[in-house]
Amino acid sequence: MDGTDSQEVFISNWEYDQAPESQDHIKIDKRYGLFIDGKFEEPKSKKYFQTTDPANGKVLAKVAEASETDVDRAVKAARKAFKKWSGLPAKERGKYIFRIARLIQERARELAVIESLDGGKPIRESRDIDIPLAANHFFYYAGWADKLEYAFPGRKVKPLGVAGQIIPWNFPLLMAAWKLAPALATGNTVVLKPAETTPLTALKLAEIIRDSDLPNGVVNIVTGAGETGASLVRHPDVDKIAFTGSTAVGKFIRKTIAGTSKKLTLELGGKGANIIFEDAALDQAVEGIVNAIFFNQGHVCCAGSRLFVQESVADLVISKLKIRLNSLFVGDPLDKNTDIGAINSKKQLETIRKYIEIGKSEGGQIYQPDCTLPKKGNWCPPTLFLGVSQSHRIVQEEIFGPVLTVQTFRTIDEVIEKANNSPYGLSAGVWTDKGSKIFHLTKKLKAGVVWANTYNKFDATSPFGGYKESGFGREGGLHGLKPYIKFE
Ligand code: ADP
Repeated sequence: MDGTDSQEVFISNWEYDQAPESQDHIKIDKRYGLFIDGKFEEPKSKKYFQTTDPANGKVLAKVAEASETDVDRAVKAARKAFKKWSGLPAKERGKYIFRIARLIQERARELAVIESLDGGKPIRESRDIDIPLAANHFFYYAGWADKLEYAFPGRKVKPLGVAGQIIPWNFPLLMAAWKLAPALATGNTVVLKPAETTPLTALKLAEIIRDSDLPNGVVNIVTGAGETGASLVRHPDVDKIAFTGSTAVGKFIRKTIAGTSKKLTLELGGKGANIIFEDAALDQAVEGIVNAIFFNQGHVCCAGSRLFVQESVADLVISKLKIRLNSLFVGDPLDKNTDIGAINSKKQLETIRKYIEIGKSEGGQIYQPDCTLPKKGNWCPPTLFLGVSQSHRIVQEEIFGPVLTVQTFRTIDEVIEKANNSPYGLSAGVWTDKGSKIFHLTKKLKAGVVWANTYNKFDATSPFGGYKESGFGREGGLHGLKPYIKFE
């Protein structure tokens, strides 16, 4: 916590064309406290939990576990800071948010390595996607801070107050950015709770926030597991809860705050349909299928986890897909050649294995390439299930791992019906040469985002969110401001 009690992690081979002498030394403290009122503090609970590297089980750091009393301290700090922060000229607020974005950029290499160490994702993804997008999100919302009157013409916009934000482990820093940036731009103060398996980049972000000179208490970061999150949800002085995570916990949160005046946004699970028509550029589509499901080990709520291929090209697409799977490298997240990193936790690995067994027992035909997995750590090879139908549990339920179900279809109406026959409604992909089909499907598919001839592309300017059991409310773009404001 004081910076002297730290370990050095020696990183090699993580950037293309990098000269050996420029290898990085990344510092991770042995122990992290709670970030409350602008400083790191011991938890009143005196409890700490360990965060580990899922690629080898090694302990990376001990992290404070916030009790109800600790959460209360954080909320009080946020409440105290609210008057000052919301009363600042909007332009000033924008400058602080911009500064956070710049500091993320300056520490991008370190953040990318820590994200991959703590969460297991391939360094190529942390470096090229997670960290740059996190910085972009702060840049984007810094720009909105003094333009709210143009965003909502003729309305007087006010912040809600103290926002409690709970984030998952699949995109730890990026989800922190998605939550914090619009809340700050609109003048709210925040208590953020990162996920218990990936707290480290949020704690690095706490250092950045401290270094940005953001007024004390505007952002507080409390680490811990479900009980810490539940304390935040229950706290009577929190005006808004923004949650991204499992549908089960989302429903629990909804029940907990029912009858209170708290505002709520939920970004929950998904079971994205990725639809390949016979007129698609098939090689490009196969790359898209691979990216849609194996990106971040399939720990992606909008993953394209249900593949629908038009019958006339199904054999060809499946054979190309198998060849592509054989070439995927599963292994060390810090190796720049890795395509699929470590599964985030033992618990998640068990869930994925359970679903693979369910898929087999329901009669699905499994295909996994012959790959050598590292001996230690949490690993799962890329997995296809052929011969499945709508009633199979692996087609209906979210697995959150590198497992793809493959179904075929003949007509456009048939595939629309199958794609929409899901409890979720977060994402979909369409691969076709025909613009008219794209427009038709984007209207007919009940999904918050529909990608055309691409998949898993994110941008701060575009709204993201779901229908049905995937939650409600939007993040990103102009829409992302609305959950944090009220009109006078
Ligand atoms: P998963 O099951 O994939 O781990 P969760 O929905 O449990 O996903 O976790 C997402 C986030 O929600 C994490 O930060 C976690 O600590 C938090 N969380 C878990 N249970 C609760 C709860 N009962 N109330 C509030 N937050 C919770």
